[in-house]
Amino acid sequence: KKIILSGIQPTGVFTLGNYLGAVRSWKKMQEDYNCYYFIADLHSMTIHIDPQKRRQQTREAFALLLACGIDTEKSLVFVQSHNKCHAEMGWIMDCCSQFGELSRMTQFKDKSAKHPDNINAGLFTYPALMAGDILLYQADYVPVGADQTQHLEFTRDVATRFNHTYGEVFKLPEGYFPKAGARVMSLQDPTSKMSKSDTNPKATISILDDEKTILKKFKSAVTDSEACVRFDPDKKPGVSNLMTIYSAITGKTMEEIESEFAGKGYGDFKAAVGQAVADELRPIRENFARLIQDRSYLEEEMKKGAERATYIANKTLTKVKKRVGLLLAK
Ligand code: ATP
Ligand code: MG
Repeated sequence: KKIILSGIQPTGVFTLGNYLGAVRSWKKMQEDYNCYYFIADLHSMTIHIDPQKRRQQTREAFALLLACGIDTEKSLVFVQSHNKCHAEMGWIMDCCSQFGELSRMTQFKDKSAKHPDNINAGLFTYPALMAGDILLYQADYVPVGADQTQHLEFTRDVATRFNHTYGEVFKLPEGYFPKAGARVMSLQDPTSKMSKSDTNPKATISILDDEKTILKKFKSAVTDSEACVRFDPDKKPGVSNLMTIYSAITGKTMEEIESEFAGKGYGDFKAAVGQAVADELRPIRENFARLIQDRSYLEEEMKKGAERATYIANKTLTKVKKRVGLLLAK
């Protein structure tokens, strides 16, 4: 079986964007691939989070993955920092990355504009740590949202260069873009993506929001004054985003949605989208409520995941260390 690897940061409760763009597909992929999914707590260090909150969010993120249907019997699920290979490999990858190429990363530009008071070195070298995450497991495919394609390209560049300089070690990972994956935009600013670290709660749907909250947020989603449900991301980003969400959940095409709401106002449309989302998320919310209370179960699963992840990653890391001339400890 081919290897799939992907991660998600414990920067808050997953959004509808994380779910429709990533985690929902991760669940489906478990049937056909060897899947490795991790909570990227080291990556989350690039923004300031209260330590107690980081711990809690990490535990929650792990439980959320399971609540979304990621099955630890089928997939390897672990917390990134529980496998020390990531930090070690990250440093080696830092030293294989050029200042110039890192400077071109749009996520760095976006995030440093968003947090001008904390433009730390980790934020800058984030793609190198991510390259290490992927290469450690010799992943064949990396399912990432459109916001991460540049980082994946970077990973391939670093791997190619490494293989060229030190001899073939890394498999070149490919992006994997699930057919049913969707890029979900902010409900308040439909030209920027929905992010779980967004501080405006009205802009995002958390996958733990209850039905009432979900309906309310959709009701106040930004649209336009045309009052016509039509897919046109350039001229009608708000409505098109809602259509994307509705389509991702119901499987209906844009044409089908346009005719379903022909002659109806945005009120009806928003209510239908909200209801579809609420129905989809209800079982996840219920699973999570149950899982998060069973702390010893979560800890046990984390431990099993960490052991297996370390075993796999260590093989690549040892090879890498030999190749670059780090003397192995006897
Ligand atoms: P943060 O704001 O902390 O960066 P995030 O919402 O961007 O959080 P990540 O943990 O960075 O979430 O990304 C997890 C996965 O979700 C990645 O595969 C990413 O491509 C995907 N993803 C993130 N936001 C969206 C979105 N709005 N639509 C679709 N996929 C998304
Ligand atoms: Mg992100």
